Amino acid sequence: MSAAPNQGEIRVIGLGPGPAAWVTPDADAALADATDLIGYIPYVERIPPRAGLTRHATDNRVELDRARHALDLAKAGKIVAIVSGGDPGVFAMAAALFEALDHGSPEDRALRVSIHPGISAMQAAAARLGAPLGHDFCAISLSDNLKPWDVIARRLKAAAEGDFVIAFYNPASKARPQSIFDAFALLKSLKAGSTPVAFARAVGRPDEKIVLTTLAEADPATADMATLVMIGSSETRFIDKPDGGRWLYTPRSYGARP
Ligand code: SAH
Repeated sequence: MSAAPNQGEIRVIGLGPGPAAWVTPDADAALADATDLIGYIPYVERIPPRAGLTRHATDNRVELDRARHALDLAKAGKIVAIVSGGDPGVFAMAAALFEALDHGSPEDRALRVSIHPGISAMQAAAARLGAPLGHDFCAISLSDNLKPWDVIARRLKAAAEGDFVIAFYNPASKARPQSIFDAFALLKSLKAGSTPVAFARAVGRPDEKIVLTTLAEADPATADMATLVMIGSSETRFIDKPDGGRWLYTPRSYGARP
């Protein structure tokens, strides 16, 4: 059977880190005429109910099931919005959708798909902190649900060796309180104790909290699953703010001293 074009489509939409002002007009437009909304419960709850929109909220651990559900709805002619926090391509649903398409049928792959970007947590955190991502950086998810700890440890070592600024996503959860402690222990053995560290929690939300410290002083227990942890490079530094606080930034050129 040939893959007939179908009215249905899938839009994978980034909702940003929290506030409505950080949702792009493109994301809003992509949501406006969707018939079905799929995502992890807290993200789906951010979209107000309206006539003509069916909301399907699911638990976080079932990304592939969620993607397959979206494909089934789209094949039935629905306009399906899959929502993610932050950017949908950063540790989120867009990749899960492509996995489902990759392993799916010709009918699945005939569907129209579009990806609508959002502000990722590391960008929102960086804006609050100053400009820590001003030079080369990498992002590492500490979730070992989806990859073994050996892989995380190898990447951490390489990131430290390469002197990248590191943004940690998924630093801890109730099921995995240990990862962030293991990550800090490893980094402390590889980087200077004076390396700046920031814990940026719930950025853009009412319960936002920023903690600035150093690798030697950092308490890994400060991080929970709503926290983005930023580890500086050898160049990253603090400068004073007029209100007594501090900015964190990484200079644009490597090795330059003001
Ligand atoms: N797609 C998302 C990331 C999903 S992974 C994005 O691009 O941001 C979930 C992790 O993102 C959380 O464990 C946390 O580390 C980070 N995160 C998401 N929203 C955040 C926020 N408002 N403040 C700080 N970190 C956040």
